[in-house]
Amino acid sequence: MQFLDIHDPDFEQQFAAILARGEETGREVEQVVLDIIADVRQRGDEALLDYTRRFDRLAVDSVAALQVSDDEFDYAFAKVAADELAALKLAVERVARFHEKQKQETWLSTNEPDILLGQMITPLERVGIYVPGGKASYPSSVIMNAVPARVAGVGEIVMVAPTPGGEINPHVLVAARLAGVDRVFRLGGAQAVAALAYGTATVPRVDKITGPGNIYVATAKKLVFGQVGIDMIAGPSEILVINDGSGNPAHLAADLLSQAEHDELASSILITTDRGFGERVAAEVERQLAALSRETIARKSWETYGAVIVAGTLEEAISFSNRIAPEHLELAVANPFGILPLIRNAGAIFLGHFTPEAAGDYLAGPNHTLPTGGTARFFSPLSVDDFVKKSSLVYFSEGGLNRLGREIVRIAELEGLEAHGKSVSVRLGGGSGVQS
Ligand code: NAD
Repeated sequence: MQFLDIHDPDFEQQFAAILARGEETGREVEQVVLDIIADVRQRGDEALLDYTRRFDRLAVDSVAALQVSDDEFDYAFAKVAADELAALKLAVERVARFHEKQKQETWLSTNEPDILLGQMITPLERVGIYVPGGKASYPSSVIMNAVPARVAGVGEIVMVAPTPGGEINPHVLVAARLAGVDRVFRLGGAQAVAALAYGTATVPRVDKITGPGNIYVATAKKLVFGQVGIDMIAGPSEILVINDGSGNPAHLAADLLSQAEHDELASSILITTDRGFGERVAAEVERQLAALSRETIARKSWETYGAVIVAGTLEEAISFSNRIAPEHLELAVANPFGILPLIRNAGAIFLGHFTPEAAGDYLAGPNHTLPTGGTARFFSPLSVDDFVKKSSLVYFSEGGLNRLGREIVRIAELEGLEAHGKSVSVRLGGGSGVQS
């Protein structure tokens, strides 16, 4: 962890190392992924079976055998404890209710005589959801990806998740059923992404792939973009906490560690106007780290990409935060709503001392798939919008075309596109425009 002062002449240089996090995308990884994609396109199911045997230690005779059966879903429900099921159900309900509010309706404007203009909203026909499963299992990722798709009205949701050794996590399956996933395949990595993008004899081709994953998954999504839609390229997680000296250092230390335990590349930063408070938080992090089950990962992340920064004023802290554009931003200050209007860039904003970021990870309602690595400058959280597309609607009656036709022809002429102009002029003037 670096303890920095924003007014230190070397501040920018010291902080640069934290910003450079995860910049190596790895040309080697890209070549491996390109080869896997090419192989899946060429050999289809056979390639999927080979990679699943190699990377997930799961050997079966057909890809159909990799599809999770109804019996396996039933077994998963039987294995999940009643309070766990209740928590997952609550998460699905709350996330669905929040995303319902994002739905946009088709509209047609009748403001002008003779002309109708509008926008038609159509859900995607089929989407693929990647649920990471190599090192851990994430039922919350299932919920955060599948629920907005279901709310949007997507026709079919196909989920893929690697299952090392064939073991499938019952919570992931239960979450999939509750969230409205239609089919689940035990497939992971670049091969799963390639299968969804191009289709194989058994895995259907989808229109869009969403969901987080490791570097192989993220690279594969980048490489199939264009053939299919993708949501975003998710990098390692990050949290930035803005503080004014109010609150409890132990609470903020816990929040910083909730990100650090995700990944060694995760980054947790506190920026405070109170040096003494910052020192107390740093000491608390050390104390709490020792008791964490994921101490090794969290410690590596905190030591490499953690920082406590002292700022002169809250305005200074906010301007720094706007520059970083954090994935998660906590406003751990006495009056969070007072400074909210000054925040420009952040994936999700958690207001006040009793809103730990983890509430948003699981069941507050908003999506936890958020722009990382400073991309909150231009990206938004995953939403219902990611699962629909819009078509423009244009209707001119003869009167409408007569009214605007001359100007359309003028613009066609100035662009030198004669046929464009003619397609309008032949219709103008009341007659059919067709010469006998
Ligand atoms: P994963 O499912 O992303 O990857 C497992 C797959 O990687 C394997 O099935 C295999 O096909 C492939 N792979 C592994 N080694 C390979 C190699 N040498 N060559 C080719 N392919 C190889 O699971 P994971 O590895 O546990 O990673 C999960 C990632 O997802 C983590 O980085 C985690 O932080 C991230 N995550 C992010 C969020 C979020 O919301 N941002 C949520 C959950 C998880």
